[in-house]
Amino acid sequence: MEGVVALFVMVFGAVIIGIAFLLTMYKTIDGEFSPLQGGVTMASLLFMLALMAKPPHPVLPAVILVVVISAMVLFPFAVERMDAADLREWDHGRLERYYETIEGMPSNWSARFEFAKAIHSMGLVHHAIAVTDATLTRLGDVVDEGSGRSLRYAFREEENCSRKWKRTAGSVPLITTQMRCSQCGHQNQLSAIHCEKCGARYILHLSAKGDTKKKVAGRLLMAEALIALTIVLASAGGLIDNNLVRTIAFLGGFSALAGILYWLFRPRTLQ
Ligand SMILES: [Zn+2]
Repeated sequence: MEGVVALFVMVFGAVIIGIAFLLTMYKTIDGEFSPLQGGVTMASLLFMLALMAKPPHPVLPAVILVVVISAMVLFPFAVERMDAADLREWDHGRLERYYETIEGMPSNWSARFEFAKAIHSMGLVHHAIAVTDATLTRLGDVVDEGSGRSLRYAFREEENCSRKWKRTAGSVPLITTQMRCSQCGHQNQLSAIHCEKCGARYILHLSAKGDTKKKVAGRLLMAEALIALTIVLASAGGLIDNNLVRTIAFLGGFSALAGILYWLFRPRTLQ
């Protein structure tokens, strides 16, 4: 009976790993994953397949099966979550549309405020405050013909928004290189939407460098493959009847997992 279960686990595991391998190969050829990301994943899968065929401990094939299936099931969900976070951070297309609107109609004040909100969500907190305040200052001089009052009154919400941002801005470091135009090298004032010297959309150029939407899936794939391998190797070590090997497997597995998770979620800047 035990032999039948072991055989079933092995055959089923080989099929699952084979599917994961083919999917990875297909998407790597397709360009969705880089050769490094696809290669590391495929190598990890092959290694696990080899461990399954010649396991150092009879329980290991079952561990590999559970780990590989979990990783495959969680993958689409994790990509979606990370993609949503990255989209919010690097909404390049949205920023480009605001640039077009502002260039087409410099007195479109709402577009300037929306622009500020967009760069605030990208982490350019000090820029966002400066752009909002500069726009509010300019609005102070514009009189609404209907009411005869300053247009600034129509944007109370934006004024509150800027106040709220200022309360939390102290904790965000001001990175001065972000004000440097990538085309002419001019050091712009924080309130500048376009480069003050050459007129380039210099903030858009900064965000283009951070446009990492496509890299998300590949990064996650490689991390998952390495996490799966770590769990399998640590289990293999833990199953061997030797205290030293067990301790090394536990500590090594734990630090490898921590390292992979840090690498996956490490803070990214616009540089
Ligand atoms: Zn410039």
